[in-house]
Amino acid sequence: MPDGGMSRRGFVEAMGAAGLAEALGAAADPAARRASASGGGTIAWAADRVFDGESVLTAHAVLLTGAEVTGVRSTHKVPPHVPVQYEPGTTILPGLVDAHVHHMQWEAPLFLAYGVTTIRDVGNDLSWILARRAEASAALCPTILCTGPLLDGPTPIHPLVARASADLEAAVAAVRETAQAGVDAIKLYCGLLVEWLPAMAREARSHGLRTSMHCQGTGVLAAANAGVGEFHHLDGVLTDVWPDRPAGWLEVWGDSELATTRDAQRRFADRIAEAAMAATPTLAYWHSQWRIRAADHSPEAEAPGVPPEMLAWQGLAAIDPDLADRWRRAREAAEGFLRLLHERGVPILAGSDVPCGAQTPGLSLWREMCMLARVSMSPVQALRAGTSALGTLLGRPKLGRLQGGSPADLVIVRGDPTRGIPESPEVVAVVRGGAAHRPTDLLAEAQRLSASVTEDPWSAQFRAHAGGGPAEP
Ligand SMILES: [Zn+2]
Repeated sequence: MPDGGMSRRGFVEAMGAAGLAEALGAAADPAARRASASGGGTIAWAADRVFDGESVLTAHAVLLTGAEVTGVRSTHKVPPHVPVQYEPGTTILPGLVDAHVHHMQWEAPLFLAYGVTTIRDVGNDLSWILARRAEASAALCPTILCTGPLLDGPTPIHPLVARASADLEAAVAAVRETAQAGVDAIKLYCGLLVEWLPAMAREARSHGLRTSMHCQGTGVLAAANAGVGEFHHLDGVLTDVWPDRPAGWLEVWGDSELATTRDAQRRFADRIAEAAMAATPTLAYWHSQWRIRAADHSPEAEAPGVPPEMLAWQGLAAIDPDLADRWRRAREAAEGFLRLLHERGVPILAGSDVPCGAQTPGLSLWREMCMLARVSMSPVQALRAGTSALGTLLGRPKLGRLQGGSPADLVIVRGDPTRGIPESPEVVAVVRGGAAHRPTDLLAEAQRLSASVTEDPWSAQFRAHAGGGPAEP
């Protein structure tokens, strides 16, 4: 705004702008919130800059009418009767989108408190997540996109949130019935047989749905050849580039011999780019696996808001400095590989894998964007990965963007994340469906909801895994 030629004071006077404290004071009143969310007139939100999901705009305001964005325009063109909420020294972003989550009810207000207004659940009990999705707009909860259960082979790793299939016919029926239930996409899981993948991806396409996969023994290229459009965690990469690798989970990337695969990694990255596959690397999850084993780990300080049961179920008392060090090297190797994908233009989505690794919902997506920026993305590219990228992939061009017709979801943060992404942002306000919220109110709601941690499908799954160390996601 001020950089647009008009002084801050001049802008405020010209627009009749209200301070955010005043605006949020009104919004804290439930009746006012309902009025603002139900079409009671247009308001404008303004800051020093607006990132609209694609580009950075100065001297612009975001106009909201009810639950919809009705325009992003130069502050000079905001009609005089429209009230403007303006806080100097801040940036407006689209509500953030976490592309890899397993939803539990306690997570919802925390996501919002850190500015995440849409989550994609990529593995949960089908009827439970469909019910949460249906009620999300009326609750203090991000918008939910979901894939239903992890569609897995005969013996699922996470049986309580998966659907097992014993043969090809059952696997295709699992896709069909999950699609018919009304999910937003299909998620395939590690235990599927490679020869089933083409028919499963084809069945998903026949319902207009995209397919993503947590690959492992099948490798990623087989999934790409089958028509799977996205892979998670970078898992399955080593199956393709290092067939005789030592046994283990992603920490194998920390093996000193991995460097011998560098040329194979480059060739693999070329083929992923040719296949137009997208990657959701969940680097924040990799980071968590290092930190939860490190000798100086402090879960309470590093994972604010995560209920103690979650910490206990994921074996966080198991300090193991040697394994921690292996995970740290693995994470660095994964970042190096992701750089190869980014250089080749492979679409990369920001996803955290909350609640795995006992990460704080929302805060972990900021960590993910920080890590993506370190890989070689500019801050604006990392912000795109955490806002508009999923909508682009899923053919929902309004999602994670601020433009006419987008949902009235935005976050106002202090400072300028378009020049450097903070690990821990100062969120000033969050607007979800047109209703404004203070982070402090959302954190208080999260505290109240933390008692629900024992009730959800993933609670039962974590309890079942407890004692076996941190669960694979
Ligand atoms: Zn996951």
